Parts: sequence; structure tokens; C-alpha cells
Amino acid sequence: MKLYNTLGKQIEDFVPRDGNKVKLYTCGPTVYHFAHIGNLRSYLMEDVLEKFLRYAGYDVTRAMNITDVGHLTSDGDTGEDKMLKGAKREHKTVMEIAQFYTDAFFSDCDKLNIKKPEIVVPATSCIDTFIEMVQTLLDKGYAYLADGNVYFDTSKANDYYALSGHAADELMVGVRDDVEEDTSKKNKSDFVLWFTKSKFEDQELKWDSPWGVGYPGWHIECSGISGKYLGEYLDIHCGGVDNIFPHHTNEIAQSEAYFGHKWCNYWFHVQHLNDETGKMSKSKGEFLTVSLLEEKGYHPLAYRLFCLQSHYRKPLTFSFAALDGAEAAYNKLKKRALALKNDGEVDETALAGAREDFIEKMSMDLNTASALTLLFDTLKMDVNDATKRAIIADYDRVFSLDLLKEEEKKEETLPDNHDWIMGKIAERADAKKAKDYARADAIRAELAAMGITLVDTPQGTTYKLG
Ligand code: AMP
Ligand code: ZN
Repeated sequence: MKLYNTLGKQIEDFVPRDGNKVKLYTCGPTVYHFAHIGNLRSYLMEDVLEKFLRYAGYDVTRAMNITDVGHLTSDGDTGEDKMLKGAKREHKTVMEIAQFYTDAFFSDCDKLNIKKPEIVVPATSCIDTFIEMVQTLLDKGYAYLADGNVYFDTSKANDYYALSGHAADELMVGVRDDVEEDTSKKNKSDFVLWFTKSKFEDQELKWDSPWGVGYPGWHIECSGISGKYLGEYLDIHCGGVDNIFPHHTNEIAQSEAYFGHKWCNYWFHVQHLNDETGKMSKSKGEFLTVSLLEEKGYHPLAYRLFCLQSHYRKPLTFSFAALDGAEAAYNKLKKRALALKNDGEVDETALAGAREDFIEKMSMDLNTASALTLLFDTLKMDVNDATKRAIIADYDRVFSLDLLKEEEKKEETLPDNHDWIMGKIAERADAKKAKDYARADAIRAELAAMGITLVDTPQGTTYKLG
């Protein structure tokens, strides 16, 4: 298996440290809001990585954190805790927000057939681990206390910029959002391991520590959780490209200082999904979620196919027109797969050959786009239906497109006033056609007042009750 390694900046042979055992770590979501489909592109491609490793015979243990404290609105250690911001926005407690959006995240993952890692750990459950780690870093001389916060001293790190490739004079490159100068730092790139002082004194979650009541920095979470659950060596660490700097750079610095040796051999980064206006962001008003795609009438797995059609290291631009294309391809593929008869003997030689082809394509830095062509080719192969089914089922262990799963037929009971509502929908469509938007809005409002929500989809307008 060959994988692009951000650390080596090239495609490398993947060799786990311990035989066929792979320790895989994924940076989890910050649960202050719904995940957008960009975030989910990262988790989806990481899911493909995990499933392909298993398919190829590796024994994978995968851990993921849930960031429910410490991720500030700027990655440069300034700004408000994102969780607190979410709690204020929704007039709830931080823990209520964390629970709600953790559940929402896994529900989105479910819809996209993204498997939940076997180890999922909220940061707030590991505070003792972080404190122990910070204390050790202080004892070893890698950290210092200044104005109430504990900082990591990046000048002590071994080759701090190895992962990001930044030159020391472009220190803050890659930091998201606003960056303010923190005058307590010895070096510009130093980062907070433990906060007791921040400009935002209303931080809701705080814990006792040897340095005062406070809370952990975001970066220490991933080092602490991966160390606790996967041990002192990692094979692969995953994330989106925005995580390379400063987050993963800081994870390496503190983990290697703590363990006293190289920590993780391979760094797997997924390029961003952008919308047509540029970067996808949760702060841009209505953002693209799986629920929004569903409301517009798309099958979530059409989005999975859309992602698989592109290489994970290429930026991908989302548009509804492109998703329409993926949905059409998905429906066609599934229809043809389901039409295959389930009788006759499977041609084991053909199946083994198909597996080999699949492994060859996917082993080349997870070339999902190229592996997908095998799926289409399978339908044209000169073998019986049972063999085609077996090959498709085999590939779908990694693609997870449910190609052979019959859609559940939803029992729909129409309300008594269904015909009247459909009449109103037609009236609204006519009003829109005549550019009488006031009338169209009035019809929407009239229905909304009765608890009927109109849903515009590419196939036309439908409605939801309640
Ligand atoms: P967050 O919840 O902000 O911590 O982000 C969760 C994951 O999504 C991280 O691995 C990010 O690197 C990744 N991510 C953020 N924005 C995008 C995007 N537009 N496309 C792909 N992945 C992203
Ligand atoms: Zn992380």
C-alpha cells in the first residue's frame, strides 16, 4: 500500500510498526454546531482509508476525540471557546450543546455510511490525562508558565516545522480566523497547553490543576487521547488539511517531547471541499449540511459517491449541479446492481481477479476515482449475475454505497387535506412563474401557520407536517 505522507511530502510505502496492526487516529469534530459537508468529506475519506486497510488485511484500531472544550475561535489561542459560543447562541449549557451536536454528527455519519471509530472519547473525560502530560512537559523543560497559562516552548521542539514545511519567519501562516499577538509567549509559535487566564472569563467548564482553575488547550487533547488509547506510537494520523498547521504541528511537538521519540509515521490529510464562493464555513449563515441535502431531495449516499469520484488530495468544489450528476450516476448504478439476478455459482477466479484489480487501484494512494471505474466495468463483465453481485458486494465493503440494498419503502399515509395542500403548492408555483413573489410567500406563510412546511427540491415542491 502506498500513501502520500504529509510528513515526507511524497507517496511512500505504508509499513505499520507492528506487523499488520495499524493504529489510526482521527481528529474529531468540535461539537458546537452541525458538521458541514466539507467536514464530512474529511471523515468520509478517512472512513474509506480505514475500510480499505481492513479490506487489505490490516488489523486496525482507530480512535477519535470529540472536542467539547478548548477549541478557540482562532487556532492561535485567542478568542472565545467555540463551545461556549455555541451554548450562548442556543441558550443552552455547554454540555447540552456537546451532547446534541455529537449525536447530530454521528447521525450524519450514519447517513453517509461513515463507520464510528471503535474508540470515541470526549476531551472533557480525559482532563487528568492532559494535566499529567502538561506537568511532564513542564518537568522536562519543554513548557513554561506565563501570566497564568502554561505554554509549550516551540524553540525546544525538534524540527517544529517538519510537517507544515513553513519557514520560521512565516510563523503564523495557516492560522485560521483572527490572530492577535499574545505578549506572554516567548516565541510567536508557542501555544497554550493549559489556560487559567483568557480574555473570556465566563468560560463555563473549568477544572482544578496544579496551575490554577482552568481548561486544556485544544492541541493537547489529541496527543493525550491518542497516547491514552493507542499508546506511544501511532501509524497514521488523519485530518483535514487545515489541521496541518498549527494543530498537527503542535501535536507532534508536544507528543514527541513527552514520549521522547518519534511519534507518528504517516500523516494523512484530506483536501478541502469548497463551495462555489470559496471556503466552506460554519459562520456563513445557512451552511451545507447532510440534512439540507436531504431536504432538497438528495440521497446522502449520492454525496458519498460525489466524494469518491475525486481524489482525496485534490480540492473539490461542491455545486448542486455536480451533485445532480452524482445522484443520477448513483441511481443508475444502484438500479443496475439491484437488477442482477441472485442465482448461479459465483466464478471464484473472476472474483479473485476483481479483488486484485481493486487492491491495485486503491493501494495507489487510495485512488477511489480509478477504483470506481472497476465498479462500472463489473456490470459489463462477461460473467454471470451472481459473480457480478459478489464483486459489487466485495467493493462495497470499502465504498459503502449500499448498492445491493433495497431501499426501504416508506409507508406514507397522506393527510386528509393532502389534495388541498397540493393545490396550494401549484398555486404558489404559478405565482412564482408570474414573478408574484409576495403571493408565493403569502401561500408559504399561510401553510406554515397550519404547521405545514414547504420543501423545495430539484424534483419540485413537497411538504412536511409539524
Ligand atoms: P472541526 O469540527 O472544525 O474541528 O473540523 C472537523 C474536521 O473537518 C477537521 O478534520 C477539519 O480539518 C475538517 N475540515 C474543515 N473544513 C473542511 C472543508 N471545507 N473540507 C474538508 N474538511 C474540512
Ligand atoms: Zn486533533
